[in-house]
Amino acid sequence: MSLFERVFRGSDEMFAKAEQEVNQIVAEVGPDAPLSLPSTAYFLACIYAYLGKKVTTTGELQAALTDVKAMMLRDNRTHAIFQSGVGTAIAAEMIEACKYVKTAAPYEGTAYHGHFTDAEVRELGVPLVTGDIPGFVVMIGAAPSKEEAVETIKGYQSRGIFVFLIGGIIEQAVEMGVSMGFPVRVVPVGEEIWSVGHVISLVVRAAMIFGNIQPGDCEGFHNYTFERINAFVNAYKPVSDITVACGAGAIKLGFPVITNDHDDMWAVPKSLIICDDTRDWIDTSIEARGIKLKITKIDIPVSFSSAFEGEIIRKGDMQVEVDGSRKDCFELVTTRDASEVEDHKIEVIGSELDEIPCGSKISLSYTVEVAGKNMQPDFEPVFERKIHQFLNCVEGLMHTGQRDMIRVRISKADYEAGFRFRHIGEVLYAKIKSEFDTVVDKCQVRIVVDEAQNAELRKHANEVFNARDERLKTMTDESVPVFYSCIMCQAFSPSHVCVVTPERLGLCGAVSWLDAKATNELDPQGPCQVVTKERCLDERTGRYEDVDEAVCSLSHGALEHVTLYSLLEDPMTSCGCFECICGIEPCSNGVVITCREYAGITPLGMTFSEMASMTGGGVQTPGFMGHGKHYIASHKFLKAEGGVGRLVWMPSELKEQIREKLNETAKDMYGIENFADMVADETNCPNGDPEELLNFLAEVGHPVLGMDPFDI
Ligand code: SF4
Ligand code: ZN
Repeated sequence: MSLFERVFRGSDEMFAKAEQEVNQIVAEVGPDAPLSLPSTAYFLACIYAYLGKKVTTTGELQAALTDVKAMMLRDNRTHAIFQSGVGTAIAAEMIEACKYVKTAAPYEGTAYHGHFTDAEVRELGVPLVTGDIPGFVVMIGAAPSKEEAVETIKGYQSRGIFVFLIGGIIEQAVEMGVSMGFPVRVVPVGEEIWSVGHVISLVVRAAMIFGNIQPGDCEGFHNYTFERINAFVNAYKPVSDITVACGAGAIKLGFPVITNDHDDMWAVPKSLIICDDTRDWIDTSIEARGIKLKITKIDIPVSFSSAFEGEIIRKGDMQVEVDGSRKDCFELVTTRDASEVEDHKIEVIGSELDEIPCGSKISLSYTVEVAGKNMQPDFEPVFERKIHQFLNCVEGLMHTGQRDMIRVRISKADYEAGFRFRHIGEVLYAKIKSEFDTVVDKCQVRIVVDEAQNAELRKHANEVFNARDERLKTMTDESVPVFYSCIMCQAFSPSHVCVVTPERLGLCGAVSWLDAKATNELDPQGPCQVVTKERCLDERTGRYEDVDEAVCSLSHGALEHVTLYSLLEDPMTSCGCFECICGIEPCSNGVVITCREYAGITPLGMTFSEMASMTGGGVQTPGFMGHGKHYIASHKFLKAEGGVGRLVWMPSELKEQIREKLNETAKDMYGIENFADMVADETNCPNGDPEELLNFLAEVGHPVLGMDPFDI
């Protein structure tokens, strides 16, 4: 039998299974039963992407069978096997979708993840553009041994590669106690091969969300995945015909397949690689997909990788906790003269970890002192904010908070492995030196583990923080000489440009004006460029000739006019990784905001995913706009439409996060006290319909009631 025949046989098998499942579910619930996957606005994403069809009922799913069958061409041309491969992936999605007809959570209580939500897809935006996630691997089948399974999974994890597991390897990982889940970037997708449909669904949604590829544009999807998504497949022998057919689909998408199965396989350079030594797969795969890894060598006894960023250390697993809520703790970056800094000096003053009883809550501070000709005190908070990420990348260590409200948990496993406080210093030293090399010439870290000393030191640190806050407060869009552009997300949204100002941070929430300034000075040819602000055309909307010129050139002509402060008139574009999205609520003439974390519905009758699908991919959609959380309480938020007084509804959790600033801004702008309480949320408007919302707004005397109707 030839490879061609294996693909055809596999795709026939997958199709037959899909046909059987779909017909069975239709027989059971009828053709009009609603069918949707949880928290997505892209229907059955593979069908939507490749066939351009919105499947919302079981009957529509059944009708799509004909289209899928038509894709599975049978002439012996290379084109046909790849096309059949893509058809196989769609059939896989259909089989999985059937599981969601009678319940929204078919995988609940199992080890498997199943469907990915749109929020999960969007969460990948920032780490993908920064290269913290350099790629994805789909591992299928059982590894030669469970020890090797763990070694390979961890090998990928330590390189930041996102790992999807399908089939036998999941059992091996569970048996070996590998911690898994979306936050640690090792996801057991499903037991059966058709769960691969969930991975392809995630990939095509990334193309729609970030790349604005239109449903039905098959070539567009293939080009996007080939050029921008660094994925590949590892398939352990024995590889079934169905898996071979899925592999053909993967190759069509541009994802190489690495296997040790020789059975009627033949190698295709760069696409199908047969490699017997499974222990070499990591290197072989990374090379085959042409992935470049960012590696910083850090001298610590445990792994260091962005894959550990989302790891949680439970109370029972912790050796010690640095507890800023009860003890004097802080983290601080400070600029010194070169003569005062000895490069790579790491000092621990007070007790080391092995002198402290297990389970203690302790007082600890670390001060990073840097020196460099191009260093500016304005970069200190930028570096400081990165500490959270740097320390969280340490396996077995959890960091939350910032400044004098930090919490750091070090696990017993790390302690056993020889991790000590001085290794915190090693991590900070290595990362600050490597990430900020153009401005930091020398760096030293002082760690103090002593209550009395920290009480004194904390007072000084707070003075520094206060002085910084004062400076930030006076920093307005009017007071600074220039703005900055950010095009980091162009890797995935080729025409998207953020314009970052002191009062409007990037929509991802991760790039403030100071961050952009630092990025520009660290790498003058890099993603953040100076945007002048000399030629203002309209102050109300924030329209500048300079800004228009910058976005036009940076978007390669895709964008001509962008305002800084309007939701309706040439609003800023969105890439896809926004923290929040706002949209017009026509009954109240207000605006509702929702955020990625909130899965519920808004008074617009839409969820975050649905609202988010209205914008993205670098296009302008007046009336909908992605933005960062901290933009909401800005004096410039929707300034052209009357400001934050337009805000009528937001999820309560988001409200709590920004309550104080929101109240301050509203008081300043409208003289209103406790504005946050006037904004509806899911607790005070539980039905979430416009009528209830209007009643609530009238009851609290919301300022929107006195504003002009939107000019739409
Ligand atoms: Fe992407 Fe804008 Fe954030 Fe830059 S500021 S990383 S372009 S969302
Ligand atoms: Zn983005």
